[in-house]
Amino acid sequence: MGRLGKWIEPFPDGIYVRPADAWIDPSQPKPNALITHGHGDHARGGHGRVFATRETLAIMDVRYGEQAGTPVGYGETIRVGEVDVSFVPAGHVLGSAQIVLDHAGERVVVSGDYKRRPDPTCAPFVVTPCDIFITEATFGLPVFIHPDTGSEVDRLLHRLHAEPDRCVLVGAYALGKAQRLITELRGRGHGEPIYIHGALERLCRLYEELDVPLGELRLATGLPKEELKGRIVLCPPGALNDRWSRRLPDPITAMASGWMRIRQRARQRNVELPLVISDHADWDELTRTIREVAPTEVWITHGREEALKHWCMMHQIKARELNLVGYEDEDD
Ligand SMILES: [Zn+2]
Ligand SMILES: [Zn+2]
Repeated sequence: MGRLGKWIEPFPDGIYVRPADAWIDPSQPKPNALITHGHGDHARGGHGRVFATRETLAIMDVRYGEQAGTPVGYGETIRVGEVDVSFVPAGHVLGSAQIVLDHAGERVVVSGDYKRRPDPTCAPFVVTPCDIFITEATFGLPVFIHPDTGSEVDRLLHRLHAEPDRCVLVGAYALGKAQRLITELRGRGHGEPIYIHGALERLCRLYEELDVPLGELRLATGLPKEELKGRIVLCPPGALNDRWSRRLPDPITAMASGWMRIRQRARQRNVELPLVISDHADWDELTRTIREVAPTEVWITHGREEALKHWCMMHQIKARELNLVGYEDEDD
C-alpha cells in the first residue's frame, strides 16, 4: 500500500489533480479549473475551462464575464481525464460545493468553504465519507463558537425598533452574507423594504433569478434622509465608514461576520452593533464534520490550522497542513 492521495498535489496556488489535469480553486489562471464556489479567493477569472455548479458559473459570469463553463449539478458525476468528479452541497453560499474525486480506488473530498447551520439561501452540507477530507479551518480554534443566527438577527431588529429616528447600516459581503441576512430578516417577520448599496445590486438580482426570493429591495443611494429613518441599509464592509454612509440618518453601524466575535475587529471598523453571523463552520462544526466524514486523513487548506491538526491527532486521524496562499478568510 502506497501513500494515500499520491495523485493529489497541493501547490501554493491551488490543489492539482494530476490524473484529471485539473486544478481546484487555483489562484492563477489554469487550463482546467474545478471551482468550489463563487467567492473571489476561490473563483478567479481567466481559466481555460471551468467546471462548477450552474449557480457558481452564473456568479462568475457576473463578476468576470462569460466563462467557458461546464455546469455540473449536485449529485451528478462527470469524468475528467481519469477521475470521476462530482459536486455535493457545502452549505456555504448559493451554489457552493464540495468536490468529490474518485480515482484509483480512493475517494478525496475537497470541502472548499462550508458551514453546518441552516442557511435559507443554499442547499445544506452533505456528509460524504472519504479517505482524505480536505478542509478549511477559518475558525479552527475552540474559542470560536458562533451564536444562534436567529438571536443575532433579533438583536438587529430590536435595535432598529428602539431607535426609529436612526437607520441600522449593516456591512455584509456582497456574495452570500448580504442575501442570507436579508432572507433571515424576512424569516423573522421583517417585511419592510430593505435598502441596499449599489455594489450589492447585481448579486441580489442574480440570487432572485436563481430562485432565492429577497422581498422588496430599494437602492439606498440619492434618497432623502427622512425616507431612511427606521430602515435597514446593507452595504459592503468597505463602505461602512466611507463618505457614502454620511448621507444616512445617524446610522447605527453594524456588521455581520464571524469575526465580530473578536471585539478588536469590531472596534477597528467602528462597529457599534457587531452581529456574529458566519458562513464558515465554527470549532464544533469543524470537529463534528470530521467525526461524521470519518476520513483516514485530513488535509487543512487555510485558516487556523494548528489547533485542528492537533485535534485530529488526538482522535487518531492523520492530519497535514497544505499552506495554500491567497485564501483570505474575509468572506466569512
Ligand atoms: Zn467562501
Ligand atoms: Zn474562502
